[in-house]
Amino acid sequence: VFKQSDALSRVQPSATLAVTQKARELRAMGVDVISLGAGEPDFDTPDHIKQAAIEAINAGKTKYTPVDGVPELKDAIAAKFRRENNLSYAPGEISVAPGGKPIIYNALVATLNPGDEVLFPAPYWVSYPEMVRLCGGEPRSIPAPIETGFKITPDQLAAAITPATKWLIFNSPSNPTGAGYTRDEIAALAEVIRKHPRLMVMTDDMYEHIVYGDFVFSTFAEVAPDLYDRTLTTNGVSKAFAMTGWRIGYAGGPEKLIAAMRKVMSQTTSNPSSISQWAAVAALNGSMDFLTDRNAAFLRRRDRMLADIAGCEGLTAPTPEGAFYIFADCSDWIGKRSPKGQTMETDIDVCNALLEEEAVAVVPGAAFGGSPGFRISYATNDEALIKAGQRLKNFAANIS
Ligand code: PLP
Repeated sequence: VFKQSDALSRVQPSATLAVTQKARELRAMGVDVISLGAGEPDFDTPDHIKQAAIEAINAGKTKYTPVDGVPELKDAIAAKFRRENNLSYAPGEISVAPGGKPIIYNALVATLNPGDEVLFPAPYWVSYPEMVRLCGGEPRSIPAPIETGFKITPDQLAAAITPATKWLIFNSPSNPTGAGYTRDEIAALAEVIRKHPRLMVMTDDMYEHIVYGDFVFSTFAEVAPDLYDRTLTTNGVSKAFAMTGWRIGYAGGPEKLIAAMRKVMSQTTSNPSSISQWAAVAALNGSMDFLTDRNAAFLRRRDRMLADIAGCEGLTAPTPEGAFYIFADCSDWIGKRSPKGQTMETDIDVCNALLEEEAVAVVPGAAFGGSPGFRISYATNDEALIKAGQRLKNFAANIS
């Protein structure tokens, strides 16, 4: 008698998880699979954060908390926004949820009516269109091709806005491309938003702290303070603090929207784990010195992988400004044969051949609205990455 709801029927399962599952199965069969599919740092949560969680447990901070976060965490988030982003959010303008993903979902479910459109650049993070569909909305992606560094232009944004557009979701640095928008590029997009007073902006700043070289992270509300009341600034501790399993995300935004998100949580998840909240207090108030070494490791891995990609005929990838992903365009491989003679009609075929023939797992661009291409996560150890690079070159060299 089980029948999926109509809302769920419109939703695709996570393609990232499908690749991970296939890689797991091959590994169980004894194949030495190198997985470049992960969406999380390979580093551990820093000790001072773990210690704060242990202390919270020992102090009995193990009960329900206020639905959208303990005051101490909201204070730490407000201080973070002030210190790092020049944004001033009062505690009533801050929401904490069990991860960045629920923060985004809560905001969408609290605001979308059937037929409302939500814009985002493609390639996009896999969950945006599916969450929009679950909430009854219409996902509308704006192509951000490799030629413009996987970024959209103000003209494209202007052309995509309709009377039904409710949100622009804006993710910089981006998952899956690592593309980061400069302050000037954000200002130019804000100029378009300004002309559409009913449009709101949801920034996804999850990769704020994983940036390279002289790229400077900026967020929308900081660049366009006049749009404060129409901006939801979302972020979380998952990536910067290597806390993906702790499940803490947060946002700053207009009080009415934050209250609506609280109402959603009050009838669904309730508060995020009390222990994780206290760990997040320590994370946000503590030193971030550990990031210097970690980002240096990510940078070294990024550059090595880019060099390996450059050594593969038919693959191209711009240099990402942040996150721990490279998005490689594989248009030239489409229609050709893999080293073992499989026809590659789509990037899904490419990724399957790469996994079956060279035991390297990457995620097809189809999952991100970015075909033909694939996402490589370099959040894994150097030894595995060196091997993966060699396998990739071997694959590329034998395509016919
Ligand atoms: N936003 C982006 C762009 C992400 O890549 C992720 C995680 O993969 C999230 C949000 C969600 O983070 P969390 O694990 O805190 O839910």
